[in-house]
Amino acid sequence: MEVPVLKVYDQKLDQLKKACEMARFELTVLERKEELLPLLDQLILPGQSCSVGGSMTLQTTGVLDYLEKRKDLCYLDRYHSEDPQAIFRQAFSCDVYLTSTNALTMKAELYNVDGSGNRVAAMIFGPKKVLVVLGINKLVSTLEEAEDRVRFLAAPANNVRLKKENPCTLTGKCMDCRMASRICCSAVTISQSIIKNRIHLIVIKEPLGY
Ligand code: SF4
Repeated sequence: MEVPVLKVYDQKLDQLKKACEMARFELTVLERKEELLPLLDQLILPGQSCSVGGSMTLQTTGVLDYLEKRKDLCYLDRYHSEDPQAIFRQAFSCDVYLTSTNALTMKAELYNVDGSGNRVAAMIFGPKKVLVVLGINKLVSTLEEAEDRVRFLAAPANNVRLKKENPCTLTGKCMDCRMASRICCSAVTISQSIIKNRIHLIVIKEPLGY
């Protein structure tokens, strides 16, 4: 990535650091995605239970494979369970929950749109620690920009990935559908954490996910 762009990113991340302190979120910035798994070695301790929210970022950074291989953890694996709904409920009592986010504003607001809501629910309450891994492309200026990011990019792309026959897969933008197969049922903004540092943002200075 070009040096001028990286400089702008650094300026934004300096602002974000202050916003995270106000929001009582912990913030770690990584230069490259290869730094993520060694960090998780430090953050997820042997014997802890963990689970994940649906996320392309966790997949492309190798986190899902990493969790499967860590035999010293109790990994509540939604992807290899015959009853994912049971895993979703068990995840509320786990030690560490890993997820990404649809967008993060410069005020450190986490904005997410969910279908069944298991991901946003666990981000809000339950797991002792929530690790939110995101690429720099998820950083936006305002909540309005966050909503646009979901409506014009993330939600249509997820519909395509999940092979949903919803209208956004044809138009490339949200059509505010009322289809039974709609994947956008709850839009949630998390602005602050009651428990300081329960939510730990890990921002990687590379584009990841969508
Ligand atoms: S509300 Fe419907 S049209 Fe809009 S992004 Fe979600 S599934 Fe697509």
